[in-house]
Amino acid sequence: MKKLVALFLVAGSLLSGCGATTSTTQSTSSAQASSSSTAISESTADSSKEQEQIEKKKEEEKQKAEKAALEKKVTEAESALSQAEANPTKENYATASAAIQALPENKQELTNRLAAIDSTIKAKEAEEERKKQEEIARQQAEQAQQEAIAQQQAEQARQEAIAQQQAEQARQQAAAEQASQQAQAAAPEQNNEQTVYVTPTGSKYHTHKCGNGTYTPATLSEAQARGLTPCSKCYGN
Ligand SMILES: [Zn+2]
Repeated sequence: MKKLVALFLVAGSLLSGCGATTSTTQSTSSAQASSSSTAISESTADSSKEQEQIEKKKEEEKQKAEKAALEKKVTEAESALSQAEANPTKENYATASAAIQALPENKQELTNRLAAIDSTIKAKEAEEERKKQEEIARQQAEQAQQEAIAQQQAEQARQEAIAQQQAEQARQQAAAEQASQQAQAAAPEQNNEQTVYVTPTGSKYHTHKCGNGTYTPATLSEAQARGLTPCSKCYGN
Protein backbone atom coordinates (compact mmCIF):
# COMPACT_ATOMS: atom_id res chain seq x y z
CA MET A 1 0.00 0.00 0.00
CA LYS A 2 2.73 2.48 0.91
CA LYS A 3 4.63 1.38 -2.12
CA LEU A 4 1.64 2.25 -4.33
CA VAL A 5 1.36 5.74 -2.81
CA ALA A 6 5.03 6.27 -3.42
CA LEU A 7 4.65 5.29 -7.07
CA PHE A 8 1.78 7.79 -7.58
CA LEU A 9 3.89 10.50 -6.02
CA VAL A 10 6.79 9.72 -8.32
CA ALA A 11 4.46 9.63 -11.37
CA GLY A 12 2.78 12.90 -10.35
CA SER A 13 6.05 14.70 -9.95
CA LEU A 14 7.20 13.55 -13.39
CA LEU A 15 4.00 14.75 -15.08
CA SER A 16 3.97 18.18 -13.45
CA GLY A 17 7.65 18.55 -14.16
CA CYS A 18 6.98 18.41 -17.96
CA GLY A 19 5.26 21.80 -18.28
CA ALA A 20 7.54 23.69 -15.94
CA THR A 21 8.64 27.35 -16.74
CA THR A 22 10.64 30.25 -15.19
CA SER A 23 11.66 30.66 -11.57
CA THR A 24 8.43 29.43 -10.04
CA THR A 25 8.74 26.32 -12.08
CA GLN A 26 12.32 25.93 -10.97
CA SER A 27 11.45 26.23 -7.34
CA THR A 28 8.50 23.95 -7.89
CA SER A 29 10.69 21.64 -9.84
CA SER A 30 13.30 21.63 -7.11
CA ALA A 31 10.60 21.07 -4.54
CA GLN A 32 9.22 18.30 -6.64
CA ALA A 33 12.66 16.90 -7.08
CA SER A 34 13.12 16.97 -3.34
CA SER A 35 9.66 15.47 -2.97
CA SER A 36 10.58 12.75 -5.40
CA SER A 37 13.84 12.10 -3.59
CA THR A 38 11.90 11.85 -0.32
CA ALA A 39 9.58 9.40 -1.97
CA ILE A 40 12.50 7.35 -3.22
CA SER A 41 14.16 7.45 0.17
CA GLU A 42 10.80 6.53 1.73
CA SER A 43 10.64 3.63 -0.60
CA THR A 44 14.13 2.46 0.39
CA ALA A 45 13.37 3.33 4.08
CA ASP A 46 10.53 0.81 4.14
CA SER A 47 12.88 -1.99 5.08
CA SER A 48 14.68 0.15 7.69
CA LYS A 49 11.30 1.10 9.15
CA GLU A 50 10.45 -2.52 9.48
CA GLN A 51 13.86 -3.03 11.00
CA GLU A 52 13.09 -0.23 13.43
CA GLN A 53 9.83 -1.86 14.42
CA ILE A 54 11.57 -5.16 14.96
CA GLU A 55 14.12 -3.38 17.13
CA LYS A 56 11.33 -1.67 19.05
CA LYS A 57 9.54 -4.94 19.53
CA LYS A 58 12.76 -6.57 20.67
CA GLU A 59 13.32 -3.71 23.10
CA GLU A 60 9.78 -4.11 24.42
CA GLU A 61 10.27 -7.82 24.85
CA LYS A 62 13.57 -7.21 26.57
CA GLN A 63 11.94 -4.76 28.98
CA LYS A 64 9.10 -7.18 29.56
CA ALA A 65 11.57 -9.94 30.37
CA GLU A 66 13.49 -7.63 32.68
CA LYS A 67 10.28 -6.64 34.43
CA ALA A 68 9.31 -10.30 34.81
CA ALA A 69 12.79 -11.10 36.16
CA LEU A 70 12.52 -8.25 38.64
CA GLU A 71 9.06 -9.37 39.73
CA LYS A 72 10.42 -12.86 40.20
CA LYS A 73 13.24 -11.51 42.35
CA VAL A 74 10.78 -9.50 44.43
CA THR A 75 8.60 -12.59 44.88
CA GLU A 76 11.65 -14.62 45.89
CA ALA A 77 12.77 -11.97 48.37
CA GLU A 78 9.30 -11.76 49.90
CA SER A 79 9.08 -15.54 50.12
CA ALA A 80 12.51 -15.73 51.78
CA LEU A 81 11.49 -12.96 54.17
CA SER A 82 8.25 -14.71 55.11
CA GLN A 83 10.17 -17.91 55.77
CA ALA A 84 12.70 -16.05 57.91
CA GLU A 85 9.88 -14.36 59.80
CA ALA A 86 8.18 -17.69 60.45
CA ASN A 87 11.46 -19.36 61.41
CA PRO A 88 14.02 -16.71 62.39
CA THR A 89 17.31 -18.59 62.05
CA LYS A 90 20.64 -17.14 60.93
CA GLU A 91 20.51 -19.24 57.78
CA ASN A 92 17.04 -18.01 56.79
CA TYR A 93 18.11 -14.46 57.57
CA ALA A 94 21.16 -14.80 55.28
CA THR A 95 19.00 -16.17 52.45
CA ALA A 96 16.48 -13.32 52.78
CA SER A 97 19.24 -10.73 53.05
CA ALA A 98 20.89 -11.97 49.85
CA ALA A 99 17.53 -11.98 48.02
CA ILE A 100 16.85 -8.38 49.06
CA GLN A 101 20.35 -7.22 48.10
CA ALA A 102 19.73 -8.65 44.65
CA LEU A 103 16.85 -6.17 44.18
CA PRO A 104 17.73 -2.87 42.42
CA GLU A 105 15.42 -0.45 44.26
CA ASN A 106 12.22 0.14 46.28
CA LYS A 107 13.21 -2.33 48.93
CA GLN A 108 12.92 -0.17 52.06
CA GLU A 109 9.90 -2.07 53.38
CA LEU A 110 11.65 -5.41 52.84
CA THR A 111 14.82 -4.06 54.46
CA ASN A 112 12.77 -2.98 57.48
CA ARG A 113 11.27 -6.43 57.80
CA LEU A 114 14.76 -7.93 57.52
CA ALA A 115 15.97 -5.67 60.35
CA ALA A 116 13.06 -6.86 62.50
CA ILE A 117 14.10 -10.48 61.87
CA ASP A 118 17.67 -9.60 62.83
CA SER A 119 16.38 -8.15 66.11
CA THR A 120 14.32 -11.28 66.75
CA ILE A 121 17.35 -13.53 66.15
CA LYS A 122 19.53 -11.43 68.44
CA ALA A 123 16.87 -11.43 71.18
CA LYS A 124 16.55 -15.20 70.81
CA GLU A 125 20.33 -15.61 71.06
CA ALA A 126 20.44 -13.36 74.13
CA GLU A 127 17.66 -15.42 75.72
CA GLU A 128 19.50 -18.66 74.95
CA GLU A 129 22.70 -17.23 76.42
CA ARG A 130 20.79 -16.13 79.54
CA LYS A 131 19.31 -19.62 79.93
CA LYS A 132 22.75 -21.16 79.45
CA GLN A 133 24.25 -18.96 82.16
CA GLU A 134 21.31 -19.71 84.42
CA GLU A 135 21.85 -23.45 83.93
CA ILE A 136 25.58 -23.09 84.68
CA ALA A 137 24.78 -21.16 87.86
CA ARG A 138 22.21 -23.80 88.84
CA GLN A 139 24.73 -26.62 88.31
CA GLN A 140 27.36 -24.75 90.31
CA ALA A 141 24.90 -24.20 93.16
CA GLU A 142 23.95 -27.87 93.09
CA GLN A 143 27.60 -28.91 93.13
CA ALA A 144 28.30 -26.57 96.05
CA GLN A 145 25.32 -28.00 97.90
CA GLN A 146 26.51 -31.57 97.30
CA GLU A 147 29.98 -30.63 98.48
CA ALA A 148 28.49 -29.09 101.61
CA ILE A 149 26.46 -32.25 102.23
CA ALA A 150 29.55 -34.43 101.71
CA GLN A 151 31.51 -32.23 104.10
CA GLN A 152 28.70 -32.41 106.63
CA GLN A 153 28.56 -36.21 106.31
CA ALA A 154 32.33 -36.46 106.72
CA GLU A 155 32.14 -34.28 109.81
CA GLN A 156 29.29 -36.41 111.18
CA ALA A 157 31.25 -39.60 110.51
CA ARG A 158 34.28 -38.08 112.24
CA GLN A 159 32.19 -37.17 115.29
CA GLU A 160 30.59 -40.61 115.32
CA ALA A 161 34.04 -42.19 115.25
CA ILE A 162 35.08 -39.98 118.16
CA ALA A 163 31.91 -40.90 120.09
CA GLN A 164 32.52 -44.57 119.36
CA GLN A 165 36.10 -44.23 120.50
CA GLN A 166 34.95 -42.48 123.68
CA ALA A 167 32.32 -45.17 124.28
CA GLU A 168 34.97 -47.84 123.82
CA GLN A 169 37.24 -46.00 126.24
CA ALA A 170 34.39 -45.72 128.76
CA ARG A 171 33.60 -49.42 128.30
CA GLN A 172 37.23 -50.37 128.86
CA GLN A 173 37.40 -48.04 131.85
CA ALA A 174 34.22 -49.54 133.29
CA ALA A 175 35.61 -53.05 132.70
CA ALA A 176 38.86 -52.06 134.38
CA GLU A 177 36.97 -50.57 137.29
CA GLN A 178 34.84 -53.66 137.58
CA ALA A 179 37.95 -55.85 137.52
CA SER A 180 39.52 -53.62 140.14
CA GLN A 181 36.39 -53.80 142.30
CA GLN A 182 36.30 -57.57 141.92
CA ALA A 183 39.97 -57.70 142.83
CA GLN A 184 39.31 -55.52 145.83
CA ALA A 185 36.37 -57.72 146.85
CA ALA A 186 38.56 -60.79 146.43
CA ALA A 187 41.46 -59.19 148.29
CA PRO A 188 40.12 -59.52 151.86
CA GLU A 189 39.31 -63.13 151.23
CA GLN A 190 42.80 -63.60 149.90
CA ASN A 191 44.11 -61.75 152.91
CA ASN A 192 42.05 -64.06 155.13
CA GLU A 193 43.92 -66.95 153.55
CA GLN A 194 47.18 -65.25 154.57
CA THR A 195 49.26 -67.41 156.85
CA VAL A 196 49.67 -66.12 160.36
CA TYR A 197 51.25 -67.65 163.42
CA VAL A 198 49.32 -68.38 166.59
CA THR A 199 50.01 -69.92 170.00
CA PRO A 200 47.53 -72.25 171.79
CA THR A 201 46.81 -69.77 174.58
CA GLY A 202 47.72 -66.33 173.16
CA SER A 203 45.09 -63.72 172.24
CA LYS A 204 47.18 -62.36 169.32
CA TYR A 205 48.19 -63.62 165.85
CA HIS A 206 51.59 -62.87 164.38
CA THR A 207 53.35 -62.60 161.05
CA HIS A 208 56.20 -64.78 162.33
CA LYS A 209 57.35 -66.70 165.43
CA CYS A 210 57.29 -63.73 167.74
CA GLY A 211 59.04 -64.48 171.09
CA ASN A 212 58.84 -67.69 173.19
CA GLY A 213 56.04 -70.20 172.87
CA THR A 214 54.68 -72.75 170.45
CA TYR A 215 53.75 -71.05 167.23
CA THR A 216 51.71 -72.90 164.69
CA PRO A 217 50.67 -71.57 161.26
CA ALA A 218 46.99 -70.79 160.64
CA THR A 219 45.03 -68.77 158.14
CA LEU A 220 44.09 -65.22 159.04
CA SER A 221 40.39 -66.11 158.87
CA GLU A 222 40.88 -68.97 161.31
CA ALA A 223 42.73 -66.66 163.70
CA GLN A 224 40.03 -64.01 163.35
CA ALA A 225 37.34 -66.69 163.88
CA ARG A 226 39.01 -67.55 167.19
CA GLY A 227 38.74 -63.89 168.28
CA LEU A 228 42.47 -63.26 168.03
CA THR A 229 43.67 -59.70 167.26
CA PRO A 230 46.84 -58.64 165.41
CA CYS A 231 50.03 -58.42 167.45
CA SER A 232 51.09 -54.79 167.85
CA LYS A 233 54.73 -55.68 167.36
CA CYS A 234 54.12 -57.59 164.14
CA TYR A 235 51.48 -55.24 162.63
CA GLY A 236 52.98 -51.99 163.90
CA ASN A 237 50.13 -50.81 166.14
ZN1 LIG B 1 54.02 -60.73 167.30
